[in-house]
Amino acid sequence: MAYVIAEPCIGIKDSACVDACPVDCIHPKKDEEKFESVEMLYIDPVECIDCGACVPVCPVSAIFAADDLPEKWSDFTQKNAAFFGR
Ligand code: SF4
Repeated sequence: MAYVIAEPCIGIKDSACVDACPVDCIHPKKDEEKFESVEMLYIDPVECIDCGACVPVCPVSAIFAADDLPEKWSDFTQKNAAFFGR
């Protein structure tokens, strides 16, 4: 299991989650090349340790444990993984 970033992040890319993540698995970061071109941020499902630290810092409540991801956003599990070629 991993945490998943869903639709509310689109167009926001606040990045507070990036600073909160202890294993640096949320990308792209503001200083990374892809940051400007992506519509949202993504969590690497292989690197995520399920700590939950990113959830409360997101200003738009876009992050969910995979088991708690609302059904309407179920495709975001794959979208997050795909960004990392998982
Ligand atoms: Fe990073 Fe923890 Fe959030 Fe996973 S749950 S993305 S390890 S802060």
